[in-house]
Amino acid sequence: MKYWNPEIETMSRDALTALQSERLQKALRHAYENCKPYRAKMESAGLQPGDIKSVEELWKLPMTVKNDLRDTYPYGMFAVPMKDVVRIHASSGTTGKQTVVGYTAGDIAIWGECMARCLIMAGANSEDILHVSYGYGLFTGGLGGHIGGETIGAATIPASTGNTKRQLQMFTDFGSTVLLCTPSYAMHLGDAVHEAGIRDQIKLRVGVFGAEPWTEEMRDEIENRLGIRAHDIYGLSEVMGPGVSCDCEQRNGLHVMEDHFLVEIIDPATGKPVPDGTPGELVFTCVTKEALPLIRYNTRDICTIDRSPCACGRNLTRMGKITGRTDDMLIIRGVNVFPSQVESVLLGIAGVAPYYRLVVDRVNNLDTLEIQVEMTEGLFSDEERRIESLVRRIEKEVLSALGISAKVTMVSHGTIERFEGKAKRVLDRR
Ligand SMILES: [Zn+2]
Repeated sequence: MKYWNPEIETMSRDALTALQSERLQKALRHAYENCKPYRAKMESAGLQPGDIKSVEELWKLPMTVKNDLRDTYPYGMFAVPMKDVVRIHASSGTTGKQTVVGYTAGDIAIWGECMARCLIMAGANSEDILHVSYGYGLFTGGLGGHIGGETIGAATIPASTGNTKRQLQMFTDFGSTVLLCTPSYAMHLGDAVHEAGIRDQIKLRVGVFGAEPWTEEMRDEIENRLGIRAHDIYGLSEVMGPGVSCDCEQRNGLHVMEDHFLVEIIDPATGKPVPDGTPGELVFTCVTKEALPLIRYNTRDICTIDRSPCACGRNLTRMGKITGRTDDMLIIRGVNVFPSQVESVLLGIAGVAPYYRLVVDRVNNLDTLEIQVEMTEGLFSDEERRIESLVRRIEKEVLSALGISAKVTMVSHGTIERFEGKAKRVLDRR
């Protein structure tokens, strides 16, 4: 099977725009009539739902941010009575309250549809044994992956995260062929497979990884370790969960499920839309959601979009890989630094394992950046000259990529913390 929903996935741009405009009008009426915070936002912008007739007028609408959800915690933005809500998820913020999201039965069905399109896009099918190692719980990863697996008819294993030894046993005993988890956990599982010497006993062939930004270099590493083809999937609980977009066999961007989610890129400084291809903050409008309408929601994720048709035959707009989040951006000595830039540098250098930690501090009023890098297993701490030259090389490449100097410290293999969910790679002591 090439497409899960060929009619939508290969629909002409004109037909898709017409469908989006029709759905947008309906979504605005629903939000205005059933969700007080949206009615207030639109009224203060002097807008009635009928004023917006097409997707070209999307920019006129007020934006929504995470704080709108936090301020109305837990259910203040819900637009349906609780008797129609069948599922609750929540995402934990690093600070403050959780963001609570709700789904009607219709919302859940659309989630299954979108996830199914993603899995087929990544090359999975009904004969696969789909191993979901995202966390099951309030986090949307586990159940999101799960509904996708069941929708395409794959034998879906709710493995959840943790207990790596047991994960490996399931790989070999249950014959898992498709793996869903965070890229950092995929890396860790890859190392564990190697250490256990069971690479020839596992049948994994496809990986669908998301929930944190990762680089092309990381993709190569994971593919080599597990002997799979790795795909990037994107989503966030506010919009739906995983399945908002995914990359196809061409792997030149992630196709957005545009019949449900309208996508824009805006300039973080001015809030105005930027031309296609220019990096900026990713903004989504959900046009079919019932329980929690979402109009122009700023994800704070940074990427670009490309609306040109793809060689896979899909016309759905592609978003580039997420290069970082405005929230994750570090400002070090006035320079904007994303952890993903450091990752790109490190993974291009032999002798360096893909585990690192950034320690940012302030010494005598000056920001300092230390990059702790793990050596590969083959490199031992007694090879001082080799390590010294590796440190110099990383420092030089970081300076050229980031524009700031950093102190590089090599640490022994296995000393940097491994993560089963989203990796935490920055320690900011300022
Ligand atoms: Zn494609």
